[in-house]
Amino acid sequence: MAGMFPVDVGPQYEGEAIRKADFYVEFGGPDVKSKFELVTLKTMNEVEHEKIEVVGPDIPELTEGGSYPLGILIDVAGSEIEKEMEPVFERRIHLYANYIEGFWHMAQRNDIWMRLHKNSYKKGLNSLKEIGKILIFLYTSEIPIIEKISTTFITDEKKVEEFLPKALEVYKARDERLKGIREEDVEEFYSCSLCQSFAPTHICIATPERVANCGAINWFDGRAAYKLDPEGPVQEVKKGECLDPIRGEYSGCNELAVVKSLRSYDRVYLHSAFEHPHTSCGCFQAICFYIPEADAFGIVHRDFVGNTVMDVPFSTMAGQTSGGRQVEGSLGIALEYLRSPKFLQADGGLYRVVWMPKEIKERYKEATPQDLYDKIATEEDVTNADELVDFLKRVGHPWVKGEVELPV
Ligand code: SF4
Ligand SMILES: [Zn+2]
Repeated sequence: MAGMFPVDVGPQYEGEAIRKADFYVEFGGPDVKSKFELVTLKTMNEVEHEKIEVVGPDIPELTEGGSYPLGILIDVAGSEIEKEMEPVFERRIHLYANYIEGFWHMAQRNDIWMRLHKNSYKKGLNSLKEIGKILIFLYTSEIPIIEKISTTFITDEKKVEEFLPKALEVYKARDERLKGIREEDVEEFYSCSLCQSFAPTHICIATPERVANCGAINWFDGRAAYKLDPEGPVQEVKKGECLDPIRGEYSGCNELAVVKSLRSYDRVYLHSAFEHPHTSCGCFQAICFYIPEADAFGIVHRDFVGNTVMDVPFSTMAGQTSGGRQVEGSLGIALEYLRSPKFLQADGGLYRVVWMPKEIKERYKEATPQDLYDKIATEEDVTNADELVDFLKRVGHPWVKGEVELPV
């Protein structure tokens, strides 16, 4: 694709990371509050094909080395596109943006984080419009049912903030479709290998009761993705025989794990952090981590600034968790998994959780049993594991009191 764009484009750039010292500007990430990406299906009349708009300052107007808000809106139209394909197209932003030489994309939805390398800026990738052109080229060449597509990049902070609640509504509605559907009710799960460029042995499994790690592929999205592109990164997995209903071990997932992990592991527990936990690539929304002092778990999300109760920040933990290995007691998860009735059910579920950032605790309040809510510590209650243990004893956390029975 040389010549068409200021920089090269292709899958060979996918695994490429951009260090802090090397980026010209970054969008989103932990230092930026307002950010999101959203794909919307519109009617043919509503989309002006190949229109690219930048609302707010474009790259040359930004200060080198800075971190900026960004909202990416992609509108698509096509007679064969179904509403339930929106999240599938949206996840392709991650894939296609990483095809761009000197451009890096991480995470999804309202967690996105992007960096532009200084060298690519110098080569002429100096406008969001150029990035839009490449994205549109990739979408239309890889997904033929897209008949019309347009892109808007919002960098004006106020406008990103204004639009963000609308995006959050859409994400919420997508997540809520799954309510009440159980693993027992379906024969197929869906696997995603989109992140193998960063973590070659990683494979995500989405079930009706387990959203994939990034939070952007739930069971419905998996189904839609597979229907859209049966040869693509999302595959149907016949769940096979349920070998362990508590830990969530299925013969179909084990068989898939052997092949997709290049034989680096051969068993997967979907609902336990021990023995054969699900692997983690790099774009999980949160980490569920074991706290030996309490023999229990903490949860930390990507945007949490500062140290966790383990005295290290999210970034340090992410390094230990990611890479596509099975790491006992260190699990990359989607936050929505906290709402699943099967959330770490083999290990005690939410009742085994003793620490989380206040923001997450509040966001998932209605998913947390009432007798537990006040007993989960946050960064405002404790700053290290010793204080945590004292706190848990003082408030009488049910796990510490020995009131929680593990299922057998
Ligand atoms: S985190 Fe998992 S589901 Fe999400 S894109 Fe990566 S491999 Fe796919
Ligand atoms: Zn990933």
